[in-house]
Amino acid sequence: MGPVRTIGLLGGMSWESSALYYRLLNEAVRERLGGLHSARCVLLSVDFAEIERLQVAGDWDRAGELLAADARSLQAAGADLVLLCTNTMHVVAGAVTAGLDVPLLHIGDSTAEAVTAAGLGRIGLLGTRYTMEQPFLLDRLSAAGLEVVVPDQADRDLVHRVIFEELVLGVVREESRTAYREVVARGAQGVVLGCTEIELLLGPDDVDVPTFPTTALHVAAAVRAALGEGGPPAPTTIDG
Ligand code: GLU
Repeated sequence: MGPVRTIGLLGGMSWESSALYYRLLNEAVRERLGGLHSARCVLLSVDFAEIERLQVAGDWDRAGELLAADARSLQAAGADLVLLCTNTMHVVAGAVTAGLDVPLLHIGDSTAEAVTAAGLGRIGLLGTRYTMEQPFLLDRLSAAGLEVVVPDQADRDLVHRVIFEELVLGVVREESRTAYREVVARGAQGVVLGCTEIELLLGPDDVDVPTFPTTALHVAAAVRAALGEGGPPAPTTIDG
């Protein structure tokens, strides 16, 4: 094995899921390398209130500027690859990538790979309203050959509300789990948990179809890249 690469985590969106990223990363490296090994990483955790305000205002340009600057700080701090620890803010993946010399590992790519490897061609997607209604993730999954279905308006409102009123605040409610299960039951043969907090609420045993937890899949891709499995991480290209 070559030198272990340093993983840069651009997190805080929300910190509840960044904490999960950190734990899963370290567990995966310990599992791979054994002993006292842990993940070599740097974390820059933003104030989510500022990002959420820009989301609501639709000021994606400003959000892109802020996150691009933060990603460059991670690079300056030694990150050899960067993870944007949120599906939603991949809406500005282009701006973030443009400012980096090191690769951004796109959350949509690790997700698409896992869905394809599971032999599924049609998949449901749960996430924030932005993720379910804007093209940035849907198109990324479609470009990988997947047919993606999103819930209807009422279900999208429910899924979005639970994320912003509960999960990003660390609140996990049984009635929300039940509501999510019902949404999943109305959907496709498998479901992408396309918001990095949803896997805090919904586990693989909670539903009858395969789940694709984007935080865990993103972490697995990062660990493979950091340990040099499959060669050096390829540069990410973002259209548009
Ligand atoms: N972590 C969430 C996601 O993966 C939502 C928080 C955000 O809006 O960034 O989309």
